[in-house]
Amino acid sequence: MTQEQWGALQQDLLKTVGQNNYKTWIEPIEFSELSDGVATFHVPTNFIGNYVSQNYGDLILHKLAKVGKTVQRVTFKVPANLSVRPSKPSMKTAAPKASKSEDSRETEIAGAPLDARFTFDRFVVGKPNELANAAARRVAEGGPVTFNPLFLYGGVGLGKTHLMHAIAWELQARRPDLNVLYLSAEQFMYRFVQALRDRRMMDFKELFRSVDVLMVDDVQFIAGKDSTQEEFFHTFNALVDQNKQIIISADRAPGEIKDLEDRIKSRLQCGLVVDLHPTDYELRLGILQAKVDTYRAQYPELQMQDGILEFLAHRISTNVRVLEGALTRLFAFASLVGREITMELTQDCLSDVLRASERKISVEEIQRKVADHYNIRLSDMIGPKRVRTFARPRQVAMYLCKQLTSRSLPEIGRRFGGRDHTTVMHGVRRIEELRSQDGQIAEDLELLRRSLEA
Ligand code: ADP
Ligand code: MG
Repeated sequence: MTQEQWGALQQDLLKTVGQNNYKTWIEPIEFSELSDGVATFHVPTNFIGNYVSQNYGDLILHKLAKVGKTVQRVTFKVPANLSVRPSKPSMKTAAPKASKSEDSRETEIAGAPLDARFTFDRFVVGKPNELANAAARRVAEGGPVTFNPLFLYGGVGLGKTHLMHAIAWELQARRPDLNVLYLSAEQFMYRFVQALRDRRMMDFKELFRSVDVLMVDDVQFIAGKDSTQEEFFHTFNALVDQNKQIIISADRAPGEIKDLEDRIKSRLQCGLVVDLHPTDYELRLGILQAKVDTYRAQYPELQMQDGILEFLAHRISTNVRVLEGALTRLFAFASLVGREITMELTQDCLSDVLRASERKISVEEIQRKVADHYNIRLSDMIGPKRVRTFARPRQVAMYLCKQLTSRSLPEIGRRFGGRDHTTVMHGVRRIEELRSQDGQIAEDLELLRRSLEA
């Protein structure tokens, strides 16, 4: 393969992975050689090599095959003789003052922008989120650090980011002296990689260790990304040692995050761990009512029949983002056509959302999700092997099929490689038993159910 061909492939990859990913991961890759079915690429750091291999290896292999290359494997190496890349000329010694400010502008860790709507007074509190809300408010007082870190977790669209922004707003107002930094785990990693690439790790470390409150959103993102985890761990420890407040969010409990180092898990569990439960009907209705109040100002002429909000709270799933989106669309639509919001108009305007939330969960979907969750092949889940590694996930899947679909036991048995209905019944019972004895299984079931119903 020629360099030109690789250049063309990179352009092709740009379309698939997007500009940001391209800049960070694909652009730095240089083609080295192709021999014996192994394509070797050069990368500037091991970290980039590992990341690319894990996340884009298959994609690159696939693209190579598409342009007719016979390649079985791709590898990414840091060339032994990599000349120290001339990073930006440093003027530190020549003119320390001037260069410092110029330099630090680039590495300056401006946090992610805060959403003006994500404040405490716009956060509707109900049973499912009252604990998380109380903990967040406590931390936002900016008093002495009592629990560190505060770890918030819960499914998609349940208000984790909203609460974190609310804490940041509140702290900015109450304690303008504090240096509060909010960012997503993805941004943390991105900055880390940039610092590595630009050989500015010292600046990076210094900046992160100088904040008073660090908030990292969606920390599950760094699972499996080893060097980022390592750096995160050190940053975390340094801040905890200085008694600085840390607030973390994730889509699941610390112990449930796969490929996260044990020492990080246990550190994350040291403070206060609170979860946001899926919304219930009352909370959904409360959120809709609050939202409608803000819309009234925007669309004063709009009329709405009784019972519409109740209908939506009943019919739309637990994800608040979807719920809000539905209401926004409904109001925009009604005001466009200049009609009263009736039940008919609602069903018309939101037919896709409503259909999606009454969507039936299929046996195949359950099997696929469960196999994924336990990291086994679908064929092993359905196949005849009876070892525990396959048998337990199989029973979990059977149990969920019984719970979440209307299929009968014989029907379920048939979908599991033609097993007898008594086998299914045994599996379902076994999981029912385990559910009350084994916290791990109970958590697994909860996670799977949530993700299937999402
Ligand atoms: P997550 O980060 O958990 O995925 P977000 O915080 O982004 O979820 O919330 C999704 C949307 O739902 C946001 O617009 C947020 O304002 C809204 N939302 C979630 N929970 C509440 C709540 N209790 N009250 C008001 N709005 C909420
Ligand atoms: Mg979020």
